[in-house]
Amino acid sequence: MGKTIIIGLDGVPFGMIKDFSGNGVMPNTSELISNGAFKPLHSSIPEVSSVAWSSMITGTNPGSHGTYGFMDLHPNTYQMKFPNFNDLKARPFWDEWEGKSVIINVPSTYPVREMNGVLISGFVSIDFEKSVHPKSLVPQLKGLDYRLDVDAQLAHGSMDRFLEDLDKTLDARIEAYRMLWQTIDWQTFMLVFTGTDRLMHFLWNAYEQKDHEYHGYFLEHFRKIDDAVGEILSQISDDDLVIMHSDHGFERLDNDIYIAYVLMDKGYLEFKAGEDVTINNIGSGTKAFVLDPARIYINYKGKYPCGSVDYEEGDAILGELENIFKALEVDGKKVVRDIYRKEQIYSGPYLDDGPEMVLIGTEGFNLKANLKVTQLAGKAIFTGKHTQDTGFLIVKGLSDEAAIPEVPSISDIKGIVEQSRV
Ligand SMILES: [Zn+2]
Repeated sequence: MGKTIIIGLDGVPFGMIKDFSGNGVMPNTSELISNGAFKPLHSSIPEVSSVAWSSMITGTNPGSHGTYGFMDLHPNTYQMKFPNFNDLKARPFWDEWEGKSVIINVPSTYPVREMNGVLISGFVSIDFEKSVHPKSLVPQLKGLDYRLDVDAQLAHGSMDRFLEDLDKTLDARIEAYRMLWQTIDWQTFMLVFTGTDRLMHFLWNAYEQKDHEYHGYFLEHFRKIDDAVGEILSQISDDDLVIMHSDHGFERLDNDIYIAYVLMDKGYLEFKAGEDVTINNIGSGTKAFVLDPARIYINYKGKYPCGSVDYEEGDAILGELENIFKALEVDGKKVVRDIYRKEQIYSGPYLDDGPEMVLIGTEGFNLKANLKVTQLAGKAIFTGKHTQDTGFLIVKGLSDEAAIPEVPSISDIKGIVEQSRV
């Protein structure tokens, strides 16, 4: 059996890979595409990294792995929690597949736990010691100046300092892969680059505008990643399986749209008088509330502390909200492209923890919960936003390409590898 190599590029859209593999920025990726299958990839719903990567590594949906967002609610409360690797309810592939795995920088794998091989967790990782399995590798990684994540806060003060940090993070990630590639007798190797997502959030405009002061930097970042891809491809054999993919796509951000404002404006969401406007202070008149990015929950009686909606009423309220969101426009443009009900997109033992409805924005509209605003739309520092249906997937080395679904989704990748390994 050949080995499995998985290269992840957080947030990189199909169109950008097509662009960069065609214009010489990513020649090695271009080579990989010409020897394999190259398709758009659908992300999880919602299309945020924590949910998408949890779906990728477990081959399941949030109803099974239990992670519905960057933040989730403790069951039956309005208390927010930050789901981490301990909250993941389904098994990652490295606990199932034979042989040693080296897993570098997969988001939402902090804190690390016992496994067969090496696991270096991705964002959000807090304590270095809890981000590395086995612990004996900590000094070596520190010796490489390994960084768990770029410091995105820097971008708010100085873009140059942020990009410098982004470079150092990428360089150290590549050094870590080199060290582990050589020293571990692995069967599966997975390396994820996450600086791409950060870069695109802050500087999508630098990608689109050729005269932008950071356009050259933007291309250079992808060139560097492509060099690493080339190096990896030069070290594998023909019967190895190579997967390169993103967890969601990206596009230009024109407007942030604040879904909580819509719910407040239409009388579905209210907060306790005189208290801070936070999820903990939802008022008893609330029929529906929202968590990032656009997960709608019905404030059911018996389910939440200030629940006010009987279960029989839920469907009618969701129908009303559907009409409101379908009609929502900014500057004469529809804001919401897709509206999914829970049962359409989720299944499994943790279905009850999920939102009742999830919205996906139309092009340019970045949906956010944002409880604190007094307007429908705004714009902050970001110039790029996630997309749900325009990620990418490259697969090389499959004996039967029919193993790839017509419209592959992030949760299909594990199964694609498993079919090739039998
Ligand atoms: Zn992102």
